[in-house]
Amino acid sequence: MTVTRFAPSPTGFLHIGNLRTALHNWMFARARGGRFLLRIDDTDAQRSEERFVDAIRADLAWLGLVPDGEERQSARFDRYEAVFAGMVANGRIYPAYETPEELDLRRKILAGRGLPPVYDRAALTLTDGDRARLEGEGRRPHWRFRLEAAPIVWDDMVRGPQKFDGALLSDPVVRRADGSWLYLLPSVIDDADMGVTHVVRGEDHVSNTAMQMQMFNAMEATPPAFAHEALLVGSEGKLSKRLGSLGVAHFREQGIEPEAVVALLARLGTSDPVEAAVDPAPLIAAFDFGRFGRAPARFDESELAQVNARIVHQLPYARVAAALPGGMDAAAWDAVRGNIARIDEAGAWWRVVTGPVEKAPVAEEDRAFLTRAAAVAADLPWADPWAELTGALKAETGRKGKALFLPLRRALTGMDHGPDMAALLPLIGRERAIARLAT
Ligand code: GLU
Repeated sequence: MTVTRFAPSPTGFLHIGNLRTALHNWMFARARGGRFLLRIDDTDAQRSEERFVDAIRADLAWLGLVPDGEERQSARFDRYEAVFAGMVANGRIYPAYETPEELDLRRKILAGRGLPPVYDRAALTLTDGDRARLEGEGRRPHWRFRLEAAPIVWDDMVRGPQKFDGALLSDPVVRRADGSWLYLLPSVIDDADMGVTHVVRGEDHVSNTAMQMQMFNAMEATPPAFAHEALLVGSEGKLSKRLGSLGVAHFREQGIEPEAVVALLARLGTSDPVEAAVDPAPLIAAFDFGRFGRAPARFDESELAQVNARIVHQLPYARVAAALPGGMDAAAWDAVRGNIARIDEAGAWWRVVTGPVEKAPVAEEDRAFLTRAAAVAADLPWADPWAELTGALKAETGRKGKALFLPLRRALTGMDHGPDMAALLPLIGRERAIARLAT
C-alpha cells in the first residue's frame, strides 16, 4: 500500500511551492490507490501557530486534497524520546558540547586549508571526566547522529541515481541543548512508524535524505523511496521572494479557481502540456515522477490566469451557482462562461441581461433598421429569437454579416463583443429587447 505524506511546519502560510509538493503527494497516492497523510511538523513550539495549522487544512481542502489521516509531531515526543534514548545507548547518537563560535572557528580553519567543513567529531573523544567537567562549567550538550563512513545511494524518482559519501558529511545535530528536536530524526521516526512508502519533497532536502537514509537503517526500518523535485522559480527565472507570498489567499483574491491551480501544478516542471482538466482524474492517471525534469520549474502567474480562464469556460452551473448574482440561472451561466476569465466576471454579463444597459451611439444609417427590428421582435414566435429576428430582418432589408448583426448586438447589449446572441437574447427577453431596440 502506497503511503505519502505532506509535512509542513505550521510556521507560516503555504506558498505555491508547498502547494505543489502537497498536490504531488496526493496525486501519487491517489494514482496508486494509496493513502495521503497530512503531518504537521510542529516540534518547534515557539514558531508553530494553531492559526497556521488551520490555514494549512483549509488550503488543502480548497484544492480538494483530502488527507486520509492527520498526524502531529507535537503529540509524539514520547516516541521520539524512546528512539533517541535507544540510539544514545548504542552510541549512534552522542553528546557534543561545542559552542556555535567554536564550530565556526573550526570550519574557518578547515576552509583555510581547502578542506570540506566536516565536523571533526572531537566530541567522540571526550572521556566521562571531560564531560563531567564541561557540564560542571554549565555546558549542556546538543546531540549528533553518528554517520557511517559508507556510500549512501538511492534511486531518486525524479533525479535518478544519487550517491553520497557518509565520510564527507558532518554528523547532523538531531537535538538541541534545550532538548528541542531538529527536523531530521522525528521525520524519519514518523515515516518509519507511519509506513510512509514514498517521500516527495523539494530538492533542498537531498542532502538531508542522505543522512536520513542512515537513520532509517539505524532504526532497522526500510527507507522509503524518494522523489526530490526541482524547486519552483518565478517567471523571471529566479527564486523570487514573491513566490513565497503566493498562496491560496492570493489566488482567491485573483479569482483563480482550485481546479486551475491543480491543473497547472500537475504539469509544471514536466515537458507535457498543461491540460485544463476540471476533473483531476485524468491528471492523476497520467501522473509520473519520471516526467519531471531536473531544471527549476517556472511558475508564471499569467499562465495560471490563462489556465483559469480555460477552466472557468468548462465549469458546470452547480459548481459556480453560489458565487453568481441572485437570479442568474444555469442558462445564463452557460451563455456567458465562455466569455469570462474568472467567475466574478459573470456578474457584469448578468447586468447586461437584466439591464439597464448603457445605450451605444447609433449610426444614422442604422436608425430605421433598429426601429424596424423592434417592431419585428414584437411579432416573433420567440422560440429561437435571435435566429428568428436576424432571419426576418435579413429577408426584409437584405442586410447580412456585420451590417446585420452588429447594430443589433450594440443596441441589445451596449457592446460590440460578447457572448453568443442566440444564448443571450432569450435571457434578455422580449420586453427588454424591444425597449433596447427602439432607440
Ligand atoms: N517539515 C519539513 C519541511 O517543511 C518536511 C520536509 C519533508 O517532507 O520531509 O521542510
